[in-house]
Amino acid sequence: MDTTWDCIVVGGGGAGLSAALVLGRARRRTLLLDTGGQSNRAAHAIGGLLGQDGRRAADFYAHGRGELAAYPAVQVRDIEAVAAARDDAAFVVDLAGGARERATTVLLATGMDYRAADIPGIAEHWGRSVFHCPFCHGWEHRERPLAVLGDGPAGIHRGLLLSAWSDDVTVLDGSLDAEARERLQAAGVRVDAREVAQVRGDGDTLEAVVFADGAEIPCEGLLVAVTLEQRSPLAAQLGIETAPPSPLSAEALAVRQMGMTNVPGVFAAGDVTGQMPSVANVIASGSNAAAAIVGYLTGAM
Ligand SMILES: Cc1cc2nc3c(=O)[nH]c(=O)nc-3n(C[C@H](O)[C@H](O)[C@H](O)COP(=O)(O)OP(=O)(O)OC[C@H]3O[C@@H](n4cnc5c(N)ncnc54)[C@H](O)[C@@H]3O)c2cc1C
Repeated sequence: MDTTWDCIVVGGGGAGLSAALVLGRARRRTLLLDTGGQSNRAAHAIGGLLGQDGRRAADFYAHGRGELAAYPAVQVRDIEAVAAARDDAAFVVDLAGGARERATTVLLATGMDYRAADIPGIAEHWGRSVFHCPFCHGWEHRERPLAVLGDGPAGIHRGLLLSAWSDDVTVLDGSLDAEARERLQAAGVRVDAREVAQVRGDGDTLEAVVFADGAEIPCEGLLVAVTLEQRSPLAAQLGIETAPPSPLSAEALAVRQMGMTNVPGVFAAGDVTGQMPSVANVIASGSNAAAAIVGYLTGAM
């Protein structure tokens, strides 16, 4: 029996599960490897995903895996892919524990690590009352006192955006010039230039921003900037080119049409490609990449 998979999908988040579903329905022998660290697991629920709005992330991923069970060509394993390389006619993927699998194509859907400012309290409230995406978490914090951890021009953008959810928004930034301050103030957004020492709260709920001088302002939701960084060495091992760094992604993979990378047979989907991170977007990119993989395997493209 041929022991070469048609595709090894690395990562079982929205991108990888969506791809595996499309591959399974196309009867492609697919091995999905996943370590279960989807980046939104810290959040209370998924916000803004049609059909799944407000669903717990863990339930959503379990449901996605359940759907794959209907397709005999797909196998899911809870294991890490630790290394990948090109073999003569295929790719070899080494798994934690020493096993090795071969495949004609590889789909990298490993997600990214979200890095936020290292200020006390941010990590403790991450994904709940400290968040990077107002579209994901703004509704749950609507009409409350909110703040934006400013970082220059991008902080102005965030402050204006967050005013869609609350009339009580403060941008925390000592670097803004008079024009920027006036622009925010004209939109009803306050600016506070004091140095932030920590954010304070109880369990899931944020209560205040604490400044270096000891003063506080009420704050029940804090919007922060993040940089997305690679969490897996596989792309580098396979020689995948990265895109130029952007304010959002430091090390995104460069993809062409439908998730194709510079290495024939290696595809990428989801956050790892530097697209705007959301579950809806990664589901779409996984689906598109899978269609491209079927095209590649059948010679149709
Ligand atoms: C805190 C937080 C809250 C969010 N909330 C929302 C929201 O409410 N709504 C919304 O639309 N979006 C939200 N997002 C964005 C959304 O979660 C991401 O865009 C999405 O999860 C990315 O999907 P992905 O499949 O690319 O990667 P991930 O979901 O991160 O999944 C990647 C998977 O690959 C696995 N993996 C990585 N490397 C390996 C390896 N070498 N071997 C095997 N497995 C591996 C990981 O463990 C993980 O399970 C949120 C993000 C964060 C950080």
